[in-house]
Amino acid sequence: MNETTPRCPDCDQPLEVLKACGAVDYFCATHGLISKKRVNFVPSGSQQNNHKK
Ligand SMILES: [Zn+2]
Repeated sequence: MNETTPRCPDCDQPLEVLKACGAVDYFCATHGLISKKRVNFVPSGSQQNNHKK
């Protein structure tokens, strides 16, 4: 199993995953809905460094 964590391409925050009927939406608290093709999927197995700018 290869789990990933969706992250915002703009602010690198973990995205909230909203599952509607058949569709999945990704929501950033700062940027709102993020199109799935723009989402950064980061392998959750690797260590996550939170770089705050
Ligand atoms: Zn964002």
